[in-house]
Amino acid sequence: MSARFVFLATVASTALAAAASGPPPESTWAVVLGVAQDGGVPHIGCRQELCAAARADPARRLAVASLGLVDDTSGQRYLIDATPDLERQLEQLNAGRDAPRRRPVDGLFLTHAHVGHYAGLMLFGREALGADRVPVHATPALAAFLRANGPWSQLVAQQQVTLHEIEPGVPQRVGAFEITALRVPHRDEFSDTVGYRVRGPRRSLLYVPDVDKWEKWERRLEDEVRAVDVALLDATFFDAAEIPGRAIAEIPHPLVGETLDRLAAAGLASRVVLIHLNHSNRLLWDAAAVRAVEARGARVARPGERLPL
Ligand SMILES: [Zn+2]
Ligand SMILES: [Zn+2]
Repeated sequence: MSARFVFLATVASTALAAAASGPPPESTWAVVLGVAQDGGVPHIGCRQELCAAARADPARRLAVASLGLVDDTSGQRYLIDATPDLERQLEQLNAGRDAPRRRPVDGLFLTHAHVGHYAGLMLFGREALGADRVPVHATPALAAFLRANGPWSQLVAQQQVTLHEIEPGVPQRVGAFEITALRVPHRDEFSDTVGYRVRGPRRSLLYVPDVDKWEKWERRLEDEVRAVDVALLDATFFDAAEIPGRAIAEIPHPLVGETLDRLAAAGLASRVVLIHLNHSNRLLWDAAAVRAVEARGARVARPGERLPL
C-alpha cells in the first residue's frame, strides 16, 4: 500500500469515526462537510493517481469545501456555501434530525460566485428540490448578481430562496451564532468575496476558503486569527511546483508555506486548519508533507470533523 493510500484510508476512517462517535457534550458546533477546492476529488479530466483512485473507490472522493453550523438545542442548521456536492452535504448536516424537506437549512451563507461555492443553489430549483424560501445570505453585490442572472433569478422569482443582504464587517445574530462576513481580495468576476467569522456560545472560528495573497487583504491575517479559536484557511496550493508554467506572482492564492510562516512567526500556527485543497495539493496524499505541517502545529481539515462553538 503506497503512502497516499494509507493517508486516504486514514481520512476515510477518521470521517467514519467522527460519524460514529455520537454528539459531543457541546450543543453547538461546526462540521466540516468538504475539504477540496471547487473542482473536488476526483477532478474532472485528471488522470493522476489520487483522482484515479477516487474514481475507482467512491469512499475516496473528497467533497468541495463547505462548513455546516449546528445548534443541537434548537435543532437549527446553517450552511456556509452551496457546493456541487450539496445533496450529500445536506444529508450529512441533517443526519439524525427530521428537517423540513423543502427547507433543509435555516440559512445559507455564501462566500462568492465561483462554482464550488454557489453552484449547488441550482438544486433548490423546481428541477430538483423545489425549495421553499430558503434564506440565502449574501453581500449586496452577490445578491444583485443572483437577482439579475439566470438560472439564479428564477430561484428568487419563484421564492425557492429569499435573499438577505449582509454588509461585510457587521455582525449578524442567527440562532445561537454571531456571524460576520469579512471582505477578502479574490478574483471577483461576478461578485465580491467574503470569508466568515462565526462566534458560538463558547468558541469562535474564521472561515476563509478563497483569498488572493494575504498581503492584499485590508485586514491583518495575524489579527484575525488571534481573534478566534480556530482558523480554517485557504490551502488551495501547497507549493508553486504543482502548477507548472505559472509564476508564483500569478498564483491567486497564498501557498501553504506562506500562510504557516506568517502564523508560526506570530505563535498562531496551532489555530490553523487547512481547507479548500486543490487536487494537485500533496497534502492530499503525501503523509510526510502532512507530518511537516503538523510539526508546525497546524493540520489539514478532516471530512466530517466537528469543531465546538
Ligand atoms: Zn473556491
Ligand atoms: Zn486530480
